Amino acid sequence: MKTSLTSRMISQLLPMKLCVACHQHTENALCDVCIADLPFINMDVLKGNMLNEPSTAQSLECKFIDQLYVATEYIHPVKRLISEYKFSGKLAIEQSFSQIFHIHQRWMQRYINAQRIIPIPLSNKRLSSRLFNQAYEISKALSRLIDAPIDPVLIKHKETPQQASLDAPSRKKNMNNVFSQKRPLGSHRVVVVDDVITTGATANHACQVLKSLNPDMHITVFALAISRPHR
Ligand SMILES: [Zn+2]
Repeated sequence: MKTSLTSRMISQLLPMKLCVACHQHTENALCDVCIADLPFINMDVLKGNMLNEPSTAQSLECKFIDQLYVATEYIHPVKRLISEYKFSGKLAIEQSFSQIFHIHQRWMQRYINAQRIIPIPLSNKRLSSRLFNQAYEISKALSRLIDAPIDPVLIKHKETPQQASLDAPSRKKNMNNVFSQKRPLGSHRVVVVDDVITTGATANHACQVLKSLNPDMHITVFALAISRPHR
């Protein structure tokens, strides 16, 4: 009796933990039901590279990308979580991304072989208004799982409009001189990290900048989600 009264009092004092996707009670950021329903991408089927799928390779700007590793499709609830995270920086949502990566861990360790992790940067203006870079936070979770250090070697010089709203020539013009590399890199295998892949233009341009100084570099682009309207 005494124990049940104590535990009831404790449970009333502790804040309730709710799933970030369905708001039901849970032990983790995402509940077991939502985790089971997530639109995971099976990287084993794709041999660790989404560019092995012709329809995906043809729909993306990916000339300078050697390998594309993505954890989930950019659909509900991942889409909502990513956009909420960008504007709130909620720790619980960040923890849900770690849960997603944890499920991918075996595939990541099998297919991603890198000496450095390079987050896609935000411009100083965007960073000062948002206070954090979502690609850097995703890089931290990835770094723990594949045991490679983060090296924020890229700089973003200007803001760019949403790539998806532009046609291909405008995207190319839009990406002119957006990124530069702070210093030479000794690594030959790196991972470039972004939150969402839509047209591939941003990640592809980052890879182009890295390869302009080191043409033999092998670059894996890693993203939490991919938007594939053709599917
Ligand atoms: Zn849930």
